[in-house]
Amino acid sequence: MATLKLAKLDKLNDRPEIFHTLQGEGASIGVPSVFIRSSLCNLHCTWCDTDYTWNWEGTPWKHETGIKYSKKDYIIELEALEIAELVASYKCKNIILTGGEPLLQQPAWEELIHHLRKKDPTYRFEVETNGTQIPSQTLDHSIDQWNISPKLSNSGNHEKIRINPAALQHFASKQNAWFKFVIQTQDDLAEVQQLEQTHHLPKPNILLMPEGRTEAALQNKRLWLADICRDQGYRFSDRLHIQLWGSKRGV
Ligand code: SF4
Repeated sequence: MATLKLAKLDKLNDRPEIFHTLQGEGASIGVPSVFIRSSLCNLHCTWCDTDYTWNWEGTPWKHETGIKYSKKDYIIELEALEIAELVASYKCKNIILTGGEPLLQQPAWEELIHHLRKKDPTYRFEVETNGTQIPSQTLDHSIDQWNISPKLSNSGNHEKIRINPAALQHFASKQNAWFKFVIQTQDDLAEVQQLEQTHHLPKPNILLMPEGRTEAALQNKRLWLADICRDQGYRFSDRLHIQLWGSKRGV
C-alpha cells in the first residue's frame, strides 16, 4: 500500500488534534479512546461544537457564535503514516475518527488503519459521521463501530444536503451502526420518528442526545429528554466530556 495519503486534521497549539480521553457520547460513552479530529465538513450546523473544522473566513455559513476561522491556523496536513506513529504512542487501542466529517477523507483512513493493524491487530476503530457519505468497501470492512449522527432541521442545513437516503439505507443495514440524534426541543421527536420509519433505522440502536455546548444548556434539556427516551423506548446519551471538561478542545 502506498504511504503518501494525506489527511487534513484540526490544528491545536500547532499540533494535530489527536488526544487520549474518554468517549463522551453515544453507544461507547466512557470508553478510554484516542480521538483523531479531522478537518472539513460538508454540513454547516448552526450549533456545531467543532465549527473550527469548517467555518472558514470568507464563507457564507452561519453559526451561533458568529466566529470565522482561518484555514491556515486551523488545518494541519499529515501523512497517514505520521498519524499512525502519533496514535501508536498511546497505549490505548480504541481509536475514534471524528471531525468535522471524517468520511470526506477516506483514503487516508484506509491507510492509517492498515498501518496501525500491522503494528497490532487488536486496534479497534470507531467513526463518527453525519451519515451523508457512503464508506468505501475497504473502509467499511475495517471499522468496528459506526456512530452515525444524521442531522435534523434544527441544525439549519437544508434537508437535501443533510439527508442522503442511500447512505442512511447503507448504515441501517449494518449491525455495528448506531444512530445518535441531537435534540434541541421536544418537537424534534416527530422528525426522528419519521426518519426512523422512512429509512428503517433499528430502534434499539437509536440514541437521543441533548444539544448543548455548556453544562447549563445540557441541564435544561436532560430531564424532559430522559422522559421522552423512557416513554418512547429510545436510548439516552449524555455528553460526558462537557460535564467533565466543559467546551475545552483536545480533551
Ligand atoms: S455535521 Fe457535525 S461537524 Fe459537521 S457541522 Fe454538523 S455538527 Fe459540525
